[in-house]
Amino acid sequence: MHDVIVVGAGIVGLAHALAAARRGKRVLVIDRDARANGASIRNFGFVTVTGQERGRVWDLARRSAAIWRAIAGPAGIRIEQEGLLLVARRPEAAAVLDAFLATGMGEGCTRLTGTEAQALCPAIPSAAAALLSPHDLRVESRTAIPLLAQWLERAHGVTFRRGTAALRAETGVVHCSDGSYRAESIILCPGDDWATLCPEIHAQAGIVRCKLQMMRLAAPGWSLPAPVMSDLSLIRYLGYAALPEAAALRARLEREARQALDYGIHLIVVQSADGSLVVGDSHDYAPTPDPFSADAVDGEILRQYEAVLGPAPPVVERWTGTFASASGHSIVRAASEGVTLVVVTSGTGASTAFALAEDVVGGIFDSKGRASCIQD
Ligand SMILES: Cc1cc2nc3c(=O)[nH]c(=O)nc-3n(C[C@H](O)[C@H](O)[C@H](O)COP(=O)(O)OP(=O)(O)OC[C@H]3O[C@@H](n4cnc5c(N)ncnc54)[C@H](O)[C@@H]3O)c2cc1C
Repeated sequence: MHDVIVVGAGIVGLAHALAAARRGKRVLVIDRDARANGASIRNFGFVTVTGQERGRVWDLARRSAAIWRAIAGPAGIRIEQEGLLLVARRPEAAAVLDAFLATGMGEGCTRLTGTEAQALCPAIPSAAAALLSPHDLRVESRTAIPLLAQWLERAHGVTFRRGTAALRAETGVVHCSDGSYRAESIILCPGDDWATLCPEIHAQAGIVRCKLQMMRLAAPGWSLPAPVMSDLSLIRYLGYAALPEAAALRARLEREARQALDYGIHLIVVQSADGSLVVGDSHDYAPTPDPFSADAVDGEILRQYEAVLGPAPPVVERWTGTFASASGHSIVRAASEGVTLVVVTSGTGASTAFALAEDVVGGIFDSKGRASCIQD
């Protein structure tokens, strides 16, 4: 008998399994796939703190980054990169960085001149300014997620049942493709599958899928000092984009980077242990986006890369991923007594799930009997 059943073994489900196990609960995780295959292994593994929306999301990201740092060693997960280098190419982007640095969220970050940025990363052809933050980190998701699951099994006694689809959940029981499983608390973390479990909650929330195109480039022969972002991120990440100074940058990008904006591109470049670079991404929203990588979109991502880091090495791998998207950071709803649905709807699961899970699990067990979950 388990105390808690978690459906979904992506980062959101694993984070809830950890939070419940840390409270001494016996946890069963159910996933329909034989191994991790969803957004959580297709992403950059970039635990982004800097630039997250001021307030609760920024706080969730800071707390989640601290949990990643604390568990990485015990779980055998390598932190591949630390920090963030945001390269501002336009003066309007430099103005956004300056405004950001003047907020509390800029604490601990350093402003670099263009020349200092080039000294730090000689691949940068030119820059107006840059921001160097120590708060962020990066893991290699395709290995980190399996390692996290193995560690939960080994160190926290979490049981995994893979290859089992959850078909329906009600108070105290999850009906699955291979039988029914019982526990007092059930937490559903199905990622972007909005059709199977709680379709009515998903419909109410207006969830769609967001499709992203990603590439891996061959090792360029140099090291990135930190994950890199560019001007485009300053009008996308709300910690920057909500600042009044972002308006002038947006107006200029609308004139100069129309294609990138139409494809929903904002540049992220991270580096793996073998030197290869993971580069993305685009954003295409639909209930069921097509699964194909459009060459025109990849071409535009590479153009943005070249503007920031010079000639691009050959592409060695391409893939797409999808995540559940709706307005707001996440949906946390009671589906029935003792059954909680948790979906991160902002494409920030790697960055915020650990702290979100602590809050949700705390809400379930600390206030048993009253509102059974948080509502975002
Ligand atoms: C390309 C890409 C890049 C991204 N980059 C970043 C990044 O750098 N930083 C960041 O913070 N976020 C990033 N994100 C967002 C982040 O990856 C997601 O927010 C996060 O992975 C969502 O985790 P999840 O556990 O909800 O979903 P998933 O990882 O998709 O896991 C859901 C799991 O639930 C299982 N499941 C669903 N329904 C059922 C069912 N009925 N029965 C049994 N099992 C079920 C699925 O099999 C799956 O394993 C990115 C996303 C993508 C796609």
